[in-house]
This record gives sequence, structure tokens and C-alpha cells, in this order.
Amino acid sequence: MISYVREGRMHEAGKMLFENNPLSAVCSLICDHGKQCEGHCIQGKKGNPIHISSIENYISETYLEQIEIEREKPNGYMVAVIGAGPAGMTIALELAKKGYNVTIFDAKDKIGGIMRYAIPDFRLPKSLLDKYEVILKKAGVKVRPNTTIGGALEIKDLLRDGYQAIFIGTGVWRPKKLSIPGESLGNVHFAIDYLKNPESYDVGNTVAIIGMGNTAIDVARTLLRKGTRNVTLFARGLKASANEDELEYAKLDGAELVFGMHPEIITEEGPVMVENTFDEEGHITGGKEERRLFKADSTIIAISQGPKSKLVDTTDGLKAASNGLLITDNEGETTLEGVFAAGDVVLGAKTVVDAVSYAKKAAENMDRYIREKNERQKP
Ligand SMILES: Cc1cc2nc3c(=O)[nH]c(=O)nc-3n(C[C@H](O)[C@H](O)[C@H](O)COP(=O)(O)OP(=O)(O)OC[C@H]3O[C@@H](n4cnc5c(N)ncnc54)[C@H](O)[C@@H]3O)c2cc1C
Repeated sequence: MISYVREGRMHEAGKMLFENNPLSAVCSLICDHGKQCEGHCIQGKKGNPIHISSIENYISETYLEQIEIEREKPNGYMVAVIGAGPAGMTIALELAKKGYNVTIFDAKDKIGGIMRYAIPDFRLPKSLLDKYEVILKKAGVKVRPNTTIGGALEIKDLLRDGYQAIFIGTGVWRPKKLSIPGESLGNVHFAIDYLKNPESYDVGNTVAIIGMGNTAIDVARTLLRKGTRNVTLFARGLKASANEDELEYAKLDGAELVFGMHPEIITEEGPVMVENTFDEEGHITGGKEERRLFKADSTIIAISQGPKSKLVDTTDGLKAASNGLLITDNEGETTLEGVFAAGDVVLGAKTVVDAVSYAKKAAENMDRYIREKNERQKP
């Protein structure tokens, strides 16, 4: 990538990045660069690493304005993609390029999944996702918004209508519960729900956030931007699970971090916290006796998400593990022939680049599956 830029071959650099990862423009903004590209840069051993994310962002965003999608001639096969997050968008583009007639179904009104409905605009401008909508159209992909599969339409309807294979990339949208008293009170909310449309919430001046992962950080930074004065995040352990960079930003924005505490109950006045005890290696061994009410106008629970069960409940033969994640083989095929899956609904809450990477593999396997199936059926 850097060699191309040095030689002034920007378009080739953009093409290379897009073919490797169609969401490189997104990843250049929201990947954990310190753990990935920049963390592995040899220059970083003795000084500062090359600012790879900025170079990638410049090239990728420029390329999105100029992109022409090269498609193989239509092969006559229809493919359905359920979910327009990074996994679904990647599959749709990859298969459309191979000549498939692709339709994406999404429960929401716009494409993007978590990237649009949970990651705040100050980290990922939604105008970037709008560009992908144009690119999908250019590639001939049809999008059916506001269409939940497992509602009026089920997977069996798609199979009836001639889709040769189906891809599931429905992600994880069911908030994990603390399973303690108080979770259903009127001033207690789940992070993923809050992030969908923060303007719908009246949370007051002091908010307690239970959890210190990336989702909790996005909630804290959004609250502080929307005028909440006191935002405190609580982690059970002695370390945060959020990226270091994100944690630093949250501190700069004014969030308070409290480690080694968990809530026992949540009251209308705020969560009642217990201090954890730890062994020498930092593992939680129990809790101290003292209980402390942390006074808060609202409490937001941010301890990750699991998958919804709509598709499994409505589809005979589609199986999930005990944690609700879809079971797939090494090829990305689910327990139902011709139905593939990738992204968070298989891996659990991960990252955009993981969703893209696994979806690319699933696209190859879906292509092979459809070709072999039709070869076998030839007279
Ligand atoms: C708050 C937050 C911040 C994050 N920050 C980052 C970050 O900075 N960097 C990073 O790399 N990752 C981040 N992630 C994780 C990342 O966004 C996800 O790993 C990624 O979006 C998963 O992609 P996916 O395509 O599997 O699913 P999703 O993005 O969840 O998309 C699934 C899509 O399926 C649709 N859908 C669901 N059920 C149905 C149905 N039955 N019928 C039709 N459509 C359906 C949904 O509407 C959605 O559009 C973050 C996650 C959260 C929650």
C-alpha cells in the first residue's frame, strides 16, 4: 500500500485495499490499530510506528468516490443475505462480483448493522456508510429494508422462492443481563438499546455504567457529549476490557473509572455496589461485606450482547449452541444445507474486521456450494 502511494499509484492502492477488505475505509477509523497494523509496525520498536490507519483511510475514502465494480456476467443464481452489517455487506459484494443476483434483507431501515446503529457518529460518520449503499447498488445488490426474517418471511419462504443459498449475518443484539433485582426499573437501560437512538433517553445528570468494555465506553462518550455531567464506569476486575485508546479518550472526555466493583442490586436511586476481593493474580475471589449505594439518576448496563433467537425458533434444522450462537462447520455452513453464516452471530461479539474476514471465506464456500450443486443436477 505504501509503495503504491510512493509511486503515485493511488487508484491501484485503493483497489488493492478494497479487494482485500471492502470495509477498509471503516476499519481505518475504528479498528484497534495499536493491536493490529500499527502494533506490528517495526518502526514502533524504537519509536513511533508508521501511521498506517491514516494512510489507509486517505486511500480508501478516495477510492470509494471513484470505484467501479467489475462484475462477472450474470450466472442466473439467486442468493439471499440476511443482515446488512459488515458480514452481510461483504458477502453481498463478493457474490455480486461473481455474477450472483443478490438480495439483502435487513430488519432496520438502513444498511450498516452495528456500524450504523451503535457506533457513535463521532467515531464513524454515517455518511461513510451511505457511500456503501451506493456501491452495493452499483454492484446490482437489491436491499429490502425493514424486513425481519423470522417475522412475516421465514427462511423456508426464501428457499421456496428459488434462492440457491442463504447467508445469515444477523449479529448479536440481545443485551446480556446482570440477572440481579432492579434491571427492569424505569431509569435502568441496556447499552445497545441506548446507542440505537440516544436522543430518545432522558438520563439525567449522573449516570452509572456497569461494564468497561468498548460498548460501555461508547455509551459514556455519547452521554458526555449529550450533556450528562457525571459519568462513572464500573469494572468487575482490575482492568478494563476496552481498548487502551478508547479508555484514554473516555478519560479525556471526563468519564470516571472505578475498578473492582460489581452491583448487587439496582435501585431507583442508583446501583448498590460491592467491592470485590482478588487473589495475587488479580482473579476475583469474592466480595467484601460493605454495600455502597452509588447515587445515580440512571444506570446503564453494558456487559455485552448475545444473539436473538428468531431465526433458530422459526427454522427447522437450524441449530445454535447453548449460548445461542449459530453452529457452523469449517466452511461456514450451518446445520441446514445451503444456509451459511458468519460474523458475530457465529463468533460472538467481535470486530468489524473479523466479520469481514470470515464473511469472505463464507462467500467462497457459498460460491463453490452453488456451483457444485448445479453441476450435480445437470442431466
Ligand atoms: C457499541 C459497539 C461498538 C463497537 N465498536 C467497534 C469498533 O470500534 N471496532 C470494531 O472493529 N468493532 C466494533 N464493534 C463490533 C462490531 O461492530 C461487530 O463485531 C460487527 O458489526 C459484527 O458484524 P455483523 O455483520 O456480524 O453483525 P451486525 O453489525 O450486528 O449486523 C447485523 C445486521 O443484521 C440485522 N438483523 C438481525 N436480525 C435480523 C433478522 N432476523 N432479519 C433481518 N435482519 C436482521 C440487523 O438489523 C443488522 O443490520 C462494536 C460493537 C458495539 C456494540
